[in-house]
Amino acid sequence: MSTDLMSRESSASVSLVAPEVLRHVVDVHCHPTDSEISPNTMDKLPITICAMATRMEDQRLVRDLATAYPSKVMPCFGYHPWFTHWIALKPVHSKEEHYRGIFANSEQNAEEFSRLLPLLPDPIPLEDVISDLRRNLQKFPNAMLGEVGLDRISRVPYDYFAAPRELTPFVIPFEHQLAVLEAQMELAVKLGRHISMHSVKAQKATCDLLQQMQRKYGEQWNRVSLDLHSCGFSPQMWKDVEGRHVNVFLSLSTAINSRSPNHRALLAACSPSRILAESDFHQIDQCAQRAWDMVVTIAEVKGWQVETTWEEDLDENHWGVVRHLEENWKTFQKGNHATAPKKSRGRKGV
Ligand SMILES: [Zn+2]
Repeated sequence: MSTDLMSRESSASVSLVAPEVLRHVVDVHCHPTDSEISPNTMDKLPITICAMATRMEDQRLVRDLATAYPSKVMPCFGYHPWFTHWIALKPVHSKEEHYRGIFANSEQNAEEFSRLLPLLPDPIPLEDVISDLRRNLQKFPNAMLGEVGLDRISRVPYDYFAAPRELTPFVIPFEHQLAVLEAQMELAVKLGRHISMHSVKAQKATCDLLQQMQRKYGEQWNRVSLDLHSCGFSPQMWKDVEGRHVNVFLSLSTAINSRSPNHRALLAACSPSRILAESDFHQIDQCAQRAWDMVVTIAEVKGWQVETTWEEDLDENHWGVVRHLEENWKTFQKGNHATAPKKSRGRKGV
């Protein structure tokens, strides 16, 4: 059977894929705690997932999920850029003073501001956020930092959980997001924890930050791995990052990336040893299918076979896509990357 034919069939339904193959698939970025999770779906989950936290309330949910399903769930703790306005960098006297300080245009949009203010939580001091993170990371030796990052286009909604989500005219200042991100990354580097990072319309700032981390922490920085999740970089920018940083990986999701034709070009440009797959989904019963769709896309772009059975001790020339991605994930988790970028593993083709 040609790879193409096999790919189309496999992508039709993950339920047709052998469980022994799926056992080696890792969804490196998803948000299962944002939806209802039934024990039944967790028992049936055929893959491993990295469950992201994003804000104060869901750190506990991720902790509970990873405690209940330690073999299937790798917990990731962190504060997402969309919720960083809830975090105070300095002591504040009142909730209103804090949010007026964050939203520079609160005076000009007085009506919207007074509608939003009662819906916002009391600000949490950054040092509380960091000590909560430290506690969670130390409780789980395999836990990662995530989801953290930078976002230049998101606007604050009135109610994040409302559907449809109604947006305010307010944005979170970039400098504020950066300060929260840097504090979290500093902790991750100190504890030697890997990072799942969101970067939207912030390519240059992300590259600058990576360079700064490398300069500041040197060898210590190379101990940790960083995944640019649902990466929207241009292929050229990614090549540049990959060449400069031995510890940075790229994961793509059909949820975000397949909206843009860029993702295939990005996969084609990416070294075969730096790619990971993710769903970025919040319904746990969809994660396996969504992650698998991306696995199949990667196979198509890289010209790799899609495994139908699992064989141990395969020669690298015969690795299929699942084996490639599993090896990449092992390298990611191991961390301690050599300073000079490794030559590609000498594979032919892409
Ligand atoms: Zn995410």
